[in-house]
Amino acid sequence: MRADNGLAVACEQLIAELQREGVRDPRVLDAIRHVPREWFVPPELREHAYRNAALPIGAGQTISQPLVVGLMTQALGLCGDERVLEIGTGSGYQAAVLCRLARAIVSIERFPELAERARRILDELDCRNVEVHVGDGSLGWPPRAPYDAIIVTAAAPEVPPALLAQLADGGRLVIPVGPRPTQELLLVTRIGPTTHTRELGAVRFVPLVGAGGWPPGIEEVPLPEEGTGSV
Ligand code: SAM
Repeated sequence: MRADNGLAVACEQLIAELQREGVRDPRVLDAIRHVPREWFVPPELREHAYRNAALPIGAGQTISQPLVVGLMTQALGLCGDERVLEIGTGSGYQAAVLCRLARAIVSIERFPELAERARRILDELDCRNVEVHVGDGSLGWPPRAPYDAIIVTAAAPEVPPALLAQLADGGRLVIPVGPRPTQELLLVTRIGPTTHTRELGAVRFVPLVGAGGWPPGIEEVPLPEEGTGSV
């Protein structure tokens, strides 16, 4: 239960909105309900924590929109026993949601200062099954592969081959693919040596920067629609 009644009410309103917009998995809704999003946003944005919006977290990055977190998490179809790889730790919020739904979470962030802050908050929330590493997540994290589920919270030019190689048989990969500002959210399922891809809809994410993503500097290239809310 949240000590702040205003935030508790806002959280329930958000949950109702997510349900209306297509997040139906009760386990996912329950995880979102129990993770205090206000811990993951800058103090000055605390009162906006339960708006269904992406918010800035520093280093030019964002905490994703709750609806996108809900839909991507739901698409992973987690039962509780999975090993999950997240690319793009950011604030750590998505990892905190995942840690309630799967056995072990490995999360990779390219900015050390974001990884450090996320690690601290996740520790304070007692998320013991999450490990956060600094690195280029477009190459995955081979030491813990294969993964039953992979979630990429930054937009890639194509599905990085290293991530496909680290996906277990029957595993699911959710990833936004395409240029800025708008990408297609893909659900890729591995079935033996082949993969099956389904399109889940349009999204707006910050770029995945790395060897299997976009080149460094992509974020500085101006967009005509800059500022319209990447997640
Ligand atoms: N999942 C995050 C959360 O819950 O707050 C939101 C992630 S934010 C939209 C995207 C993140 O991906 C940023 O923190 C960015 O630094 C990170 N990122 C981009 N390219 C990356 C890469 N190659 N490896 C690891 N992290 C990367």
